[in-house]
Amino acid sequence: MKVVYDTRFEDPTYAPDNAGLVGRMEAAMSGLASVWETIAPSPAPLEQLLLGHDEAYLQTVRADQPRFAMASLAAGGAILAGRLAHGGEPAFACVRPPGHHASRLSAWGHCTFSNVALALLVLREERRIERAFVIDIDAHTGDGTREVLAHWPQAEIFNPFAATSWEYLEVVETRLAELGPTDIIAVSAGFDGYRHDVGHKLDTPDFQRLGALIGAASRRVCRGRRFAVLEGGYYLKDLGANVLAFCQGFAQ
Ligand SMILES: [Zn+2]
Repeated sequence: MKVVYDTRFEDPTYAPDNAGLVGRMEAAMSGLASVWETIAPSPAPLEQLLLGHDEAYLQTVRADQPRFAMASLAAGGAILAGRLAHGGEPAFACVRPPGHHASRLSAWGHCTFSNVALALLVLREERRIERAFVIDIDAHTGDGTREVLAHWPQAEIFNPFAATSWEYLEVVETRLAELGPTDIIAVSAGFDGYRHDVGHKLDTPDFQRLGALIGAASRRVCRGRRFAVLEGGYYLKDLGANVLAFCQGFAQ
């Protein structure tokens, strides 16, 4: 597995929100760099951003240069992770701002560009994939990803929900067991479902189990082609342990 990361993501000045918290990226990366090789992304060029967003929206974001630069780099990170995965190397893109609440014309919830959707749309544009499966394990629904991919019938999006961690893992396991052939699996990897974060549900070993379930499913349906992109996760004290646990399961 490879980790897609750039220390430029550590600059918190691009947005005064929870995703932009000081020290958040350092926390997320704290367990990863000593285990997996890190690769730095390039910012996504305009023509790739236009695959998922309207020109008018891009102009609006561009008016805020620090945010535009950071969000383009985050999208570039997701796109690089998608390319690595397609080439047979699983990847985790540790990026911000997150993307799953970013639609064609707008964004909310600390998001700017629809990172996961863009990564998949680039692979489709290059005719590398026809089908894709997205599993969003953030505590919140990935409404943006759903909207951006709405006109792609062979892109399936799954947002698991359940009352308890035990049920959550069962819902995921059941859905993944039903999964038919696809070309790639993408994960919107949010960690705010953690028991001390806003979702108040999952524990650290649950993230490892989720990673392992998704990894196993990818080996069964798409020759192991899988990548994950950081979404939410705001309980900084344990964010590193949770990201590491997920990646250990995902990389198996
Ligand atoms: Zn969230």
